[in-house]
Amino acid sequence: MTTPIKPTSKILIVGSGVFGISTALWLARAGYADVTVLDMQDTASAAYDPGAGIDSASADLNKIIRFSYGTEIEYQRLATEAAGLWEEWNRDIASVAADADTAADTPERKALLSTLLRGDGDGGDESKLKLWWNVGMLRMSCKEEFGSFEMETLENMEKEGIRDYQFRSDDEQDLARAKERGWAHKLDPCQRQERFGVHKAVLDSTAGFVAAYKSCAWAQYLAKKAGVKTLLDPVRGKVVDITSKDNHPVAVTADGVEHVADLIVVAGGGWTPSLLPEVKDLLETTAGSVATIQLPKERTDLWERFAPENHPVITWGMRQEKEVYSFPRDENGVIKVGWRKTKWTNFKDVHGGHRLSVPKTAHVTEEKEDRIPAQAMEGIKEYITLNFPELVSLGIASTKLCWYTDSIDNSFVVDFVPGRPGVAVCSGGSGHGFKFLPILGREVVKILEGKGPNTVYGQMWKWRAGEPLKERNGLEEGEGGPRVLSKQTMVGTADWDATAA
Ligand SMILES: Cc1cc2nc3c(=O)[nH]c(=O)nc-3n(C[C@H](O)[C@H](O)[C@H](O)COP(=O)(O)OP(=O)(O)OC[C@H]3O[C@@H](n4cnc5c(N)ncnc54)[C@H](O)[C@@H]3O)c2cc1C
Repeated sequence: MTTPIKPTSKILIVGSGVFGISTALWLARAGYADVTVLDMQDTASAAYDPGAGIDSASADLNKIIRFSYGTEIEYQRLATEAAGLWEEWNRDIASVAADADTAADTPERKALLSTLLRGDGDGGDESKLKLWWNVGMLRMSCKEEFGSFEMETLENMEKEGIRDYQFRSDDEQDLARAKERGWAHKLDPCQRQERFGVHKAVLDSTAGFVAAYKSCAWAQYLAKKAGVKTLLDPVRGKVVDITSKDNHPVAVTADGVEHVADLIVVAGGGWTPSLLPEVKDLLETTAGSVATIQLPKERTDLWERFAPENHPVITWGMRQEKEVYSFPRDENGVIKVGWRKTKWTNFKDVHGGHRLSVPKTAHVTEEKEDRIPAQAMEGIKEYITLNFPELVSLGIASTKLCWYTDSIDNSFVVDFVPGRPGVAVCSGGSGHGFKFLPILGREVVKILEGKGPNTVYGQMWKWRAGEPLKERNGLEEGEGGPRVLSKQTMVGTADWDATAA
């Protein structure tokens, strides 16, 4: 960075996902008066709803919120701070809804509420507007014993004084505590003990999920209220190049307009490496595989059973061999299931003669994709068949690739870009960034103000290309690796019946 930012500095943020919108919100709250968020998708009028065609990691139905981070204590502390804000956001959005149709109502509120409350789900307005759901997360082993990672996690929780909130399915004291605190009914939702004679799982009663796209819409509403401007448009908001002029960074949009700024923050999620190829040794764009199941309206037994009150978030065989997760149903009866064992890559020639992995999505990218690799479908079907056999005959309602921005070490990357005065990168969510939405920007602002070297997160998220690392999170594989999408057989909803479990 050439000159430090001032309250009047012109700041452009590319991307209105979790990383961009949280940064914008906290910049405005810190007194920066000229902050504009650009996005090539109109995340505002669609309220980030993936069902309305918004394609990004943040624009999703739901995301897991956990506050336990094993030995990564700094992330655990930040997640715990975020927890307080998630509670606050739940209260605030409810009170905004209460103000609707009163004199205190505003056009922004009306727009937000009408988008979030649309649909004909039977959850009632209250559940449609609740962002953070503390429904618990059940970490199920796929074997007859716990894996070593689970045992280490429990040991660390003991040391941190938070073991009390974890309930082991095979520990009498834990079971008694779970019963006393009203969590016992979530300990074996798949009746594994009865059906297989063994069930090894730990229920984390501090965890749960957030309604992801609604949370982003709320964050954008707060950011605008704090003074953030937006330019959300497939042409006028799409940044095609970042250059410089008279020592100022310039974002060139698809309509040819040059937006001259004092600071440009690139928070483009999976599109970040193609816009800023310098990050290629630090970040890689990869895809997770997701499917949904639609519960029929008339199956009230299933609606009841998979309701958030009765059903936790579940992970199955994480750090073992399965790596599947699922959520309770939403207010429209949709259950999301994700397979994260392999993160896929999609190499293409991009601007500047680079060949990098880039997103391939159902709506936004030139080449469209709404299927998932057969291997992922098999993993999802195996999970459903073994754990929820009554859902198999329902088939699946949708499949999609959801694009991560993985960093070499799974830690975020927030720093100025070497050799590009006035340009910073804010990305590298690596599959765990969502939970920090309410707080992430607070730490990003410190880094943008040049205080990064003196802060814990500034140190953790600094530019670290070229530093020696034992593992590089698959970045070293490149196009020759086995995760490349073009090497996979792709399947969609119609292939469910033929998929082997
Ligand atoms: C499958 C999957 C599961 C996950 N599960 C969890 C979880 O359970 N819990 C958790 O905490 N985290 C989870 N994450 C991580 C979390 O979703 C991400 O860390 C976070 O959403 C990333 O946000 P982002 O702003 O970096 O990117 P995105 O959400 O992808 O947003 C990027 C935005 O930039 C815009 N953009 C890109 N390029 C341009 C351009 N050139 N011009 C203008 N606009 C542009 C895009 O349109 C988009 O709106 C998961 C991620 C994935 C992929």
